[in-house]
Amino acid sequence: MKHGCEHNKSDRKQFLKSQVLPERCQHFIGGRYLDSSSGESFKKTLSAYNESWFEVAVGGAPEIDLAVKAAEKAAAGPWSRATATDRAKLLHRIGDLIEANVETFALAESLDTGKPYSETRNGDIPRSAQNFHFFGDLAAHQSFETWIGDDGSHHTSIREPLGVTGLITPWNLPLYLATWKLAPAIAQGNTIILKPAELTPLSATLLCELLNEAGVPEGVVNVVHGFGAKSAGEALVRHPGVKAISFTGETTTGSAIMRDAADSLKKLSFELGGKGASVIFEDADLDLAVPTACRAAFRNQGQICLAGSRLIVHEKIAPQVIDRLLACVKKIKIGDPLDDATTMGALIANDHRDKVAAFVDHARTSGAGEILCGGKIPASLGEQLANGAFYEPTVIAGVAQNSRLIQEEIFGPVLTVQTFKTAEEAIALTSGVPYGLSCSVYTRDGALAQKFARSVRMGMVWINGWFIRDLHTAFGGMKRSGIGREGGRHSLDFFSEYKTITTAATGSSQSASVES
Ligand code: NDP
Repeated sequence: MKHGCEHNKSDRKQFLKSQVLPERCQHFIGGRYLDSSSGESFKKTLSAYNESWFEVAVGGAPEIDLAVKAAEKAAAGPWSRATATDRAKLLHRIGDLIEANVETFALAESLDTGKPYSETRNGDIPRSAQNFHFFGDLAAHQSFETWIGDDGSHHTSIREPLGVTGLITPWNLPLYLATWKLAPAIAQGNTIILKPAELTPLSATLLCELLNEAGVPEGVVNVVHGFGAKSAGEALVRHPGVKAISFTGETTTGSAIMRDAADSLKKLSFELGGKGASVIFEDADLDLAVPTACRAAFRNQGQICLAGSRLIVHEKIAPQVIDRLLACVKKIKIGDPLDDATTMGALIANDHRDKVAAFVDHARTSGAGEILCGGKIPASLGEQLANGAFYEPTVIAGVAQNSRLIQEEIFGPVLTVQTFKTAEEAIALTSGVPYGLSCSVYTRDGALAQKFARSVRMGMVWINGWFIRDLHTAFGGMKRSGIGREGGRHSLDFFSEYKTITTAATGSSQSASVES
């Protein structure tokens, strides 16, 4: 892989075009790149420039079937004898290779998603490498449970691979979320078929080069591109040879997958939508709370499941919090994702940008709230970006709890503001949405913070912070935000089957009766 540490954004484009981008993102099956049997492909649009620089193969049932066969063959081969130490070494090698190519991956990911290079270079890509190192360490140190029964019998529960597992990932953190599933699936000795989002096929395609370089046996990891419903995604979910699906994406897609997986009774893990909140109490340290809440709302153009897309603030401090917030928003620099100075890039696609804009228009036309800043497509970004999927960071105050803006996931740079008088009211506002993924609370009162954290219906609560993750801990949401948890042993549990082996006590009456 070519290394990509270029000096300025025009060099970066040239470098990507001439040395990184494939002509076509092909499927990776059985260790080889190939096109669809139908020859079908589509032109990928780069959302910042509204231009197409490469094509993507569109897979379907034939490619999924081919990938399942390759994965089954690999599962029956030498991979089945790889030890935990072998798998751990492999994971570390992949992590090292991503680190060695961090700039190339970061540039490719920024180009594909429209998100700022500073985020992919310092966040998404190093964290993708870390996923492999983390699960490499964990895989090497797994222990099994053993009991001695009262009668002297000996019981050991071991974990075995599930077999062929399907991973379906979204476009907002493409490599990070793919590796978050790939690493534990490999750690547990499975074989894998990854279906990346059709909007972001690039980093998964580039990763396959590194998998070969790291020595991942052919067929252990396969990548099939294509769409979701009635395409590669659905074919993967319906295939009887696939034992489990780990899915991250929209809640409605989760429901469709659950229906399609029912006939073959697959094991499922769902990380779905979110509607997070930043809740600021009267005694909070505003120097910490306001910039963090601003970042929580607008990082990755607000396209993060954990985004704090609702600001819920004590009414006494609301005016000063809003003033400070608007000052923070003013500092956001919208521009070319490949430019180092950019802090807000393009949304994933123009039609997604239009969906986001429709929420703001609803606020504008129905009087659902007062638009304090933003609320439009930015002007004068220059000729190259003129047709890109950009939208200004938008703050809307005075929104009622039952408004669509509060109840639905907007997944864009839109922050609503609501006020409260009492802790009970803050808790009710925070929990009063269909989602239950995450929220942040800002206060200097430790007891209040704990009471708040224990009371809200959210899978993850940060006290005086946002998006602070330790990979050992459970990641996931309540209500319509998901089923199951990922992270640390939760991921290792999902990607394995328990088997309990019991040895009867020598000379026990039961062993005697079995023998006779
Ligand atoms: P989607 O649900 O639209 O797509 C996710 C993946 O599922 C894509 O690969 C998609 O393929 C595929 N897919 C779509 N329909 C089907 C189907 N019927 N069967 C099988 N696969 C299918 O989500 P987005 O890509 O739009 O991602 C944004 C969503 O992801 C947001 O709701 C966000 O909150 C959520 N998310 C949740 C996270 C969490 O941890 N809880 C983390 C990150 C995001 P294709 O794109 O080709 O159609």
